[in-house]
Amino acid sequence: MLDIQKIRADFPILNEKVNGKPLVYFDNGATSQKPQVVIDAISKYYQEINANIHRGVHTLSQLATDAYEISRKKVQNHINAKHAHEVLFTSGTTFGINLVANGFASILKPDDEVIVSHLEHHSNIVPWQMLCEKTGAVLKVIPMNENGELIMSEYDKLLSEKTKIVTVNHISNALGIINPVKYMIDKAHKVGAAVFIDGAQSAAHLKPDVQALDCDFYAFSGHKMCGPTGTGILYGKESWLNKLPPYQGGGEMIKEVTFEKTTYADLPHKFEAGTPNIAGGIVLGTAIDYLNTVGFENIQQQELELLAYATQRLSEIEGLRIYGNSKNKTSVISFNIEGIHPYDIGSIIDKLGIAVRTGHHCAQPIMNFYGIPGTIRASFSFYNTKEEIDALVEAVKKAQLMLS
Ligand code: PLP
Repeated sequence: MLDIQKIRADFPILNEKVNGKPLVYFDNGATSQKPQVVIDAISKYYQEINANIHRGVHTLSQLATDAYEISRKKVQNHINAKHAHEVLFTSGTTFGINLVANGFASILKPDDEVIVSHLEHHSNIVPWQMLCEKTGAVLKVIPMNENGELIMSEYDKLLSEKTKIVTVNHISNALGIINPVKYMIDKAHKVGAAVFIDGAQSAAHLKPDVQALDCDFYAFSGHKMCGPTGTGILYGKESWLNKLPPYQGGGEMIKEVTFEKTTYADLPHKFEAGTPNIAGGIVLGTAIDYLNTVGFENIQQQELELLAYATQRLSEIEGLRIYGNSKNKTSVISFNIEGIHPYDIGSIIDKLGIAVRTGHHCAQPIMNFYGIPGTIRASFSFYNTKEEIDALVEAVKKAQLMLS
């Protein structure tokens, strides 16, 4: 069991007041808060070892390079990648998706097929649409049911020898549904397709084992897992990363440059052109250490308790509908109240210090499926409490009274 008060003391922002009220932060799906060790590690980097990496013989450059590469190894261990060079530092999930979608432009031919799901964030739709426009490939969509689950029998039907890549999120940001990714990966591999897993929402809740999953790519963002903004990871199987062309050209990603021909550096540098977010990359490792100290089993237990409690308490409110009623869910509740626009509820409860996300959550196809403009999304983290959920319920009731 976690000592929540001790955990909360690690996060200075949780003591802040917003609009004169104690902050209740339920927008963890958008970005997580940062523990003091992460905040301190950023200053420490700039105070003690700031230098450019992979290029200097001087001591600071060596220290910064070592710290950056140690962080890569921490990520490798965290996701159980076979090789450290399969772990690429990026600026976030969006960058990782674009890198792979761009690379597949050199592989796809007209009439090849790319499969996405109805549950995707726009980040995992638009780059693949752009890829299809560029190559003449066709985008196919796995449909969802009323509970917000992907319909696996329809997925099975979409797969064929034309399928070249399947891309799906591990956990949906709008509804919190956990997708059956292992099943989907095994099925896709049977027809020879690669599989990209968008782990933006999963990385804060679980330790993905990329070898056990056998996915070809797995991307996530540091800022959603207690790390700094502007950081992220793209995991790719060595064989795939060797096959794909570089995404960006520039310094650091080359072996040799002449005006006639350039040869590219080995992995991972082939995909890491230019000066990266050095402090961010190093401190992402600190965030992973922090989460491992808290323990992913503890994190999951606390979050599932919060989910069960919030589901029960919110269901007390008349006219409230929760979207995504699957058993396979993480700590996200997306809801609406009959006759009231989600934005109005969000604005009123903000005045009471409660931060939730309102709108389409960058997942307009899901909102279109339900025929709604958006939802109110409360996404819980392990540092949240049942008392905060009580505050949310009271605030929503108050807003409902004011608006009806
Ligand atoms: N995919 C999913 C499922 C997300 O929830 C998000 C962000 O909310 C993204 C992709 C994009 O992540 P980022 O903006 O950190 O690149």
